[in-house]
Amino acid sequence: MSLDTAGDPSGKLFAEHKKIRPAAVSGFFRRLKWAILVVGMAIYYFLPFVRWDRGVGHPDQAVLLDLPGRRFYFFFIEIWPQEVYYVTGLLIVASFVLFLMNALAGRVWCGYLCPQTVWTDLYFAVERFVEGADRRKREKLDEGPWTLEKMGRKAAKHAIWLLIAWWTGGAWVLYFADAPTLVKDLATLQAPAVAYMWIGALTFSTYLMAGFAREQVCIYMCPWPRIQAALTDEWAYNVSYRVDRGEPRGSLKQNKKLRAEGVAAGDCVDCGQCVVVCPTGTDIRNGPQLSCIQCGLCIDACDAVMAKTGQAPRLIAYDNDINIERREQGLGEIHRFVRPRTIIYVVLISAICGLMAWKLGTRATIGLNVLHDRNPQYVQNSDGSIRNGYTVRLLNKKGTAQDLTLSVAGVPADSDLETASPAIRDGRALVLRVEPDQTREIRVTVTAPANAKIEASQGVVFTLLDKDGEKVETRDFFKAP
Ligand code: SF4
Ligand code: SF4
Repeated sequence: MSLDTAGDPSGKLFAEHKKIRPAAVSGFFRRLKWAILVVGMAIYYFLPFVRWDRGVGHPDQAVLLDLPGRRFYFFFIEIWPQEVYYVTGLLIVASFVLFLMNALAGRVWCGYLCPQTVWTDLYFAVERFVEGADRRKREKLDEGPWTLEKMGRKAAKHAIWLLIAWWTGGAWVLYFADAPTLVKDLATLQAPAVAYMWIGALTFSTYLMAGFAREQVCIYMCPWPRIQAALTDEWAYNVSYRVDRGEPRGSLKQNKKLRAEGVAAGDCVDCGQCVVVCPTGTDIRNGPQLSCIQCGLCIDACDAVMAKTGQAPRLIAYDNDINIERREQGLGEIHRFVRPRTIIYVVLISAICGLMAWKLGTRATIGLNVLHDRNPQYVQNSDGSIRNGYTVRLLNKKGTAQDLTLSVAGVPADSDLETASPAIRDGRALVLRVEPDQTREIRVTVTAPANAKIEASQGVVFTLLDKDGEKVETRDFFKAP
């Protein structure tokens, strides 16, 4: 079998990795990225230590994924496994928010919010701090012999990278247990083995992804750029080189000379600053590219050049295809944030959020699940009566124990509801105690008398009632010969 490598004269199947050493840059977008990085990381690292009083016997951690207790706590919200649809709803909302961001400003998620971008940015900052702000100096260090200085700088850089990675992994596990207790247990080596394993795995993956894979994740591994390219439109604002203003490019001297001779010259002085600050090594002057994560750093770099050369800023800017075309035709810019796709996204986001808020606001503090026996579906007793068996799960979401009344309707009036579990009989109903914030599973049987008129399969309704009159119902069926 032969593989076609005709496109590459070297015969290689993939591009060789070139290490990118972005130069430091300052400006509005750089400051914005720093602000998002600091706020985002502060939330991630310290949120597990935020307390939230839920009363005695309940965890007081504001955000907690309590796997043994099968609960997810998020401030005043407590999600039970039976309510996993809230998580589904949140994921759907997150997807539509991502689509909306894309419709407004392209890959703004990639450039500012994606953890891969944020951590890689931090690792670049450490690299510049330890190995030198000058990218040529860093390149020289990489390519030079292993001197004591090189060993020291490399060791320091990797030590700080590992420390950040370890803290990242450490913070992750704190979301799954009481954070202050787990920190103490981790320090005294008394934490469960699984916590150390997760910290190890996340330390390794953070160090690998942010320290070594870097832009390769964005260019080759992540599916979002491909999906995003299919979802975007000509109205979305993307970091763009204003080709109508920049070309024909040339050195400042050359451009000045051309202008003096009355020949048209662009504003781009071909300094390459937009490329050297780019964390993915993209030359934005070549047009929209999959490797561009839309971080805006090239805008800052180019604005600094424009200021130095006495030209107007924003030769590189957030722009859209429509306006590039209109300017080329000598027309004014138009902006359209409100258009069918942004309206649809906003409506969907609002509808799902509204529905979830309504569900949360009206959710019951008790719950009932009923599962009919599969085999046998019914039993005919020697006296001719028909018995059906069910597994019933009762939920008490309150912080106090409750006596819940279980009854069944839809079967003949003199049918019996029975259980072998501890219960108090109240007429035809059963009163069952459920401990605070617990579920209780019992087996019940419903027996219809021999002379009752019953269809082969008929619907029944199980009802659970608490002392305050709150009621939940579940439908099932009753089988007969
Ligand atoms: S081309 Fe500009 S916006 Fe795109 S990734 Fe590079 S620096 Fe960021
Ligand atoms: S930084 Fe601006 S002026 Fe310099 S090469 Fe890039 S686009 Fe041209």
